[in-house]
Amino acid sequence: MSGIRFNFPAPELDQSIYDLRSEVRTFLREEICNDRFTPVTDCWCAGVDLDFSRKLGQKGWLGVTWPKQYGGRELSALHRYVITEELLAVGAPVHAHWIADRQSGPLILSSGTEDMKRNILPRIAAGECFFALGLSEPEAGSDLASVKTRARKVDGGWEITGTKLWSSGAQHCQYMTVLARTSDPLEGKRHEGLTQFLVPLDSQGVAISGIRDMSGLMHFNESHFDSVFVPDDSVLGKVGEGWKQITSELALERSGPERFLSTFIVVEHALVRAASDLDARQAAIVGGIIARVRALRAMSLGVAALLESGKSPDVEAALVKDLGTRFEQDVVERLRAFRPILWKSGNGDVLDDLMTDSLLRQPSFTLRGGTNEVLKGIVARGIGLR
Ligand SMILES: Cc1cc2nc3c(=O)[nH]c(=O)nc-3n(C[C@H](O)[C@H](O)[C@H](O)COP(=O)(O)OP(=O)(O)OC[C@H]3O[C@@H](n4cnc5c(N)ncnc54)[C@H](O)[C@@H]3O)c2cc1C
Repeated sequence: MSGIRFNFPAPELDQSIYDLRSEVRTFLREEICNDRFTPVTDCWCAGVDLDFSRKLGQKGWLGVTWPKQYGGRELSALHRYVITEELLAVGAPVHAHWIADRQSGPLILSSGTEDMKRNILPRIAAGECFFALGLSEPEAGSDLASVKTRARKVDGGWEITGTKLWSSGAQHCQYMTVLARTSDPLEGKRHEGLTQFLVPLDSQGVAISGIRDMSGLMHFNESHFDSVFVPDDSVLGKVGEGWKQITSELALERSGPERFLSTFIVVEHALVRAASDLDARQAAIVGGIIARVRALRAMSLGVAALLESGKSPDVEAALVKDLGTRFEQDVVERLRAFRPILWKSGNGDVLDDLMTDSLLRQPSFTLRGGTNEVLKGIVARGIGLR
């Protein structure tokens, strides 16, 4: 074990990154002071405000790393990092555009057609075009290669039939990237024969129905595809190579600040309220929380730096998600030392509402985007223990 090294380089943050952070922070302070949004816990899954997404687009804060010709600003992954970090820290309603900005846009850039890049990326960057991820199915979650959604070759395109489950935000989205089987798996080669498609969600044969989670929110969906026709140029990348594409998206999906800041808004509210009156036990809890956030942030920034240098740090990203999601769950329990009475949601107290929502939403943190058991398997393989 002594030879194991993880690579989390400390990035150089130039002045333009600090300037961008303070610009975003000033904007958010103004929005909050003018009651233009209500901060929510787990905002990147639970906070939907289409106007707010559009405002971020107008500010030039979406798709910032993409080429200018496709609506981007050619800034670095670290510029994007500070924007997302500021938004998460205040619980801003960012869910509508989150997947498109984080994942689907970069996928189109790497694997989409020129038409997709010209037509779709500028709309994502403007905060007007949203994406859902069509990976999981009723019988395919951790074992994603067992997807049963089928794409059958027909004249001029493909016909897609199957059911995708837990598709976050699909009810607000114009598109879903759908992983489908395009040929039968050969013995021992289950990861071959899978293909990703860009599917407009207003296509004939698409039906989306909401699923309510235990916090009462209907943020994810069951999405049915009944012989949905998509033209040949809807294939993302190459036919049969969907698995390779998906695994290269994972570092983007797993390492960002959303994997440890989902409940940060509660930390802030609890600490602001308790700041002047901490006993020794509470002070120790605060110290522990701050130390963990700082370590996670350094790791997550390290992954952003690796992505910026063109690497695909899957193992480091899996570690950030494993440690980060456990932190954002754990912190809610720890904060009960400051606020022991819960289940008062609806009494008008912001902290009680945030705490209650956090408590009800936190079980999902270690499931979505790959469960923590599966992530540990990736880390174990990455360091040669499996
Ligand atoms: C809030 C939320 C949002 C989501 N959004 C989306 C979305 O937008 N699009 C999408 O496609 N999916 C989405 N998902 C689905 C998510 O990716 C899956 O829930 C996840 O991959 C786990 O799959 P599963 O639910 O089928 O559980 P299973 O894979 O059945 O796992 C059940 C349990 O078995 C354990 N397990 C499974 N395999 C192993 C193994 N090899 N080793 C050790 N333990 C194992 C798991 O860790 C877990 O504890 C979302 C999920 C949640 C909770």
